[in-house]
This record gives sequence, C-alpha cells and structure tokens, in this order.
Amino acid sequence: MSDCIFCKIAAGEIPSNKLYEDEFVVAFHDISPQAPVHFLVIPREHIPGAAAVTPDNSRLIARCFEVIAMLAQRENLAGGFRVITNNGQDACQSVHHLHFHVLAGKNLGERLIRD
Ligand code: 5GP
Ligand code: ZN
Repeated sequence: MSDCIFCKIAAGEIPSNKLYEDEFVVAFHDISPQAPVHFLVIPREHIPGAAAVTPDNSRLIARCFEVIAMLAQRENLAGGFRVITNNGQDACQSVHHLHFHVLAGKNLGERLIRD
C-alpha cells in the first residue's frame, strides 16, 4: 500500500526507532507512548487489521507473537505486558495496517487502552 505509514516504516522510507526486524515482522517504538514501554509489532505485509486475518496470512500473526515473546524476554518485561490490537471505528483504529501494541513498565490496571 503506497500511502500506508506502517508500510513505509517497514520499508525504511519513514524513520522509526526499531527494536527488531526480519523478513516478515518489524517492531518499533510507538511515537506517542502510553506506558513506559510501548512498542508496535507489525507484519511487513499490508494486512488492514485483525478482521482481515485469513488462513493465507495467519502464519504472519503467529510470527508477530513469536517476536513479541522474544522481545518480552530481551527487554526484560518479566513483570508483565499487555498486547492490544484495535480493529475498526469503534476501537479507534487510526492506522489501517495490522499492528500489535505491546505495553509494559508499570501496572497497567484494568482500564482499556482507550477510554
Ligand atoms: P491505533 O490507534 O491504530 O491502534 O494505533 C496506531 C499507533 O501508531 C498509535 O499508538 C500511534 O501513536 C502510532 N503511530 C502513528 N504514526 C506513527 C509513526 O509515524 N511512527 C510511530 N513510531 N508510531 C506511529
Ligand atoms: Zn501497510
């Protein structure tokens, strides 16, 4: 998708603070962190959101979670972390390229990422 900001981040066309990248997955710090630790994990492939996951691309979702588990260890998130994905209007999805928020570094409480 030529006008997708996360496709551009994955391609290195827009700068980001990357924690990890491989052939399939990229992880980078959120530009507007909502917790002491807040990074995003995305498939390189443009998948619009969780509602667009299919048997053809679901291996990429598994890869995202393998990277989340690896980074949780590497970044010392032993105290716990939260993984969130927003899909669609009611969830206030603002970037329409599937991404998993990983939040940590404080007690995240019982509130949702958005009020
Ligand atoms: P959503 O609202 O779609 O669940 O999450 C989109 C996230 O992307 C937001 O937390 C927002 O701060 C982050 N974001 C939007 N644009 C950029 C950007 O250019 N760079 C980075 N690193 N994060 C971004
Ligand atoms: Zn995209």
